[in-house]
Amino acid sequence: MGVEQEILRAIDENREEILAFARDVYRHPELGYKEKRTAAKVAEVFRARALAVRESLAITGVRADLRPEGASSDVTVALIGELDAVVSPDHPHADPQTGAAHACGHHAQLAGVVGAAFALSSPAVAAHLGGGVAFFAVPAEEYGEVEFKNGLKEQGLLRYGGGKCELIRIGAFDDITVSVTHHSAPGVKGIKIGSETSNGFVSKVIRLRGRGAHAAAAPHLGINALNAASLGLTALAYQRETFQDADTVRVHPILTRGGELVNVIPQDATVEILVRGKHLEAILDADRKVDRSFKAGAMALGAKVEILTAPGYLPVVAAPPAPEIEAAARLVFPPEAIERVADGAHGTGSTDVGDLSYLMPVLNFTTGGMTGDLHSKDVDFFDEETAYIATAKIFALTAYHLLKDGAQAARAARAAYKPHFTKADYIAYMDALEKTETVDYGTEGK
Ligand SMILES: [Zn+2]
Ligand SMILES: [Zn+2]
Repeated sequence: MGVEQEILRAIDENREEILAFARDVYRHPELGYKEKRTAAKVAEVFRARALAVRESLAITGVRADLRPEGASSDVTVALIGELDAVVSPDHPHADPQTGAAHACGHHAQLAGVVGAAFALSSPAVAAHLGGGVAFFAVPAEEYGEVEFKNGLKEQGLLRYGGGKCELIRIGAFDDITVSVTHHSAPGVKGIKIGSETSNGFVSKVIRLRGRGAHAAAAPHLGINALNAASLGLTALAYQRETFQDADTVRVHPILTRGGELVNVIPQDATVEILVRGKHLEAILDADRKVDRSFKAGAMALGAKVEILTAPGYLPVVAAPPAPEIEAAARLVFPPEAIERVADGAHGTGSTDVGDLSYLMPVLNFTTGGMTGDLHSKDVDFFDEETAYIATAKIFALTAYHLLKDGAQAARAARAAYKPHFTKADYIAYMDALEKTETVDYGTEGK
């Protein structure tokens, strides 16, 4: 039997275990840097396949390594799945306590990576790998709960918000030659190959501080932080006509605090914002407008404003459909179910896959088998064969195609890739975006 057929057979043979894993993770969603149960489950599955497992990387991350005897030590292919869910409390499988749900389908990525590990670690396949495979379960791709993450930063547990950003920083990707990434998407019949570009972003926490007072008897003695925040949001809305279509700017705030008790003038208001754009200049331009808007709100009310800015994700660098994934897709899907990312396609969301794409070649594919808009309560994985089993097959076959014949294809992909950043450049770039600015327009001595 050929190696490719052996890979397909091994995944089909482990079909029930892969499906059980996917369903279990789907029904136990956890938010970023809190994916303890999911991480432990992934680690357990890898350990059962006798892989060398490292845990607690960037708090909850897991990396398992397979390096068959005789495989070169200077080539390693990373297969990447994400651990975290998103908040979607109305989703049928949402966690009743946290509102977390796998409405972004990261459990399908994990099922794919785990299924690939079953196939690639089988001796009949491993003997044909000319380099190592690193199976990653990466924390916190969804960039939410910014204040919670800032708390982890203050405790020295991490420095960057995104799981891949943090794993890059601590060196978990230092030895990786090529990364392979996946996402599920509605409207994809079988598979879509390639990476479209995406927006990058910076993240903001804006704290308006005023002064409490009796809301009815003595409002003149207070400084209303909620009103300052509200004016800031309005000023921000007036900036929108200055955002240029080509920059695909998205600035979307939420109010996470807006007062304590209804009969007290709100003393604290907090706004979280992600400021996104197609390239760094557009992001920084929008970011300056956000800062001015909230300073205006604070100034009008005589409040104090504290603006915390942190690096988010870099825009994804476009990558044409990889021949190794094309070859894999032809073994799994009929031709009519294989699509390719169109030239110039751009997504206005963001992912920390962008950060990886600045440092190394990233081979990306998208599979279907799901319906409903991502991050919405309607997300449903109706075709597990496509969403989970086929994803595992593509991950495994792609790794094999990269690593067969002395890892020729992996070496060639790396040689053809021009890095946008060295790791040192990346760390310097990220650290330069981190800043705190405080302006008090009148809470002292008024
Ligand atoms: Zn998402
Ligand atoms: Zn996602």
